[in-house]
Amino acid sequence: MKLKHLEMALQRLSGFSRPRAALEQYQTPAPLAARLLYHALMKGDIEGKSVYDLGCGTGVLAIGAALLGAAKVRGIEIDQNAVDTAEANVALKGTDVEFIVADVRDAALPGRIGTCDTVIMNPPFGAQQDHADRPFIDLALKTASVTYGIFNAGSAQFIETYTEGRAGISEKVGGVFPIRRTFSFHKKDVQDIEVEILRLTSCRNRNPKA
Ligand code: SAH
Repeated sequence: MKLKHLEMALQRLSGFSRPRAALEQYQTPAPLAARLLYHALMKGDIEGKSVYDLGCGTGVLAIGAALLGAAKVRGIEIDQNAVDTAEANVALKGTDVEFIVADVRDAALPGRIGTCDTVIMNPPFGAQQDHADRPFIDLALKTASVTYGIFNAGSAQFIETYTEGRAGISEKVGGVFPIRRTFSFHKKDVQDIEVEILRLTSCRNRNPKA
């Protein structure tokens, strides 16, 4: 599937029916989602791989991974209402994605979901709750050897420090996240947020005692 076709397919998916500000529920815009996914595909991290989407929301990234030939796709999301929308989106595209309603902060979750090849995620940026992205990063590094995440532009430095000894940033791709007026505190119809897609590679050879 070509990049343009992937973008068009993702564009047609339904958004959050009842978006919740506290959970920073913003659907990943199709061009940005397609960019992350295509990039990961070119790196050999999607086709034939097991892929988990953490905080999958409406399922855009998960469905995109399935469309690009991932062998197994799972979406993990705290909000049942969002998962209902994601299920409907999956049915619309005829893809195969399994959803798990769970909190990424749950200490028992890594044991429950096991490991996968690649994590893809658009975690909360921490606008509502400081460091809301940290449990996503922690779970991703426990679960997969390679992670692609969307973060606020300028996060790379912080993430490098935060993940020191556990992972390294192997790539950084810039992008724009147009946030549409969704919540009462939004002042503009559309606000462009500069973002960066980071590829994190987990350290496999680290000393477990360190
Ligand atoms: N990629 C998705 C949604 C991104 S918004 C899409 O394109 O639709 C971030 C998502 O993380 C939201 O769906 C939110 O409900 C979910 N989320 C926030 N905190 C969470 C937590 N602690 N555990 C699991 N999911 C969480």
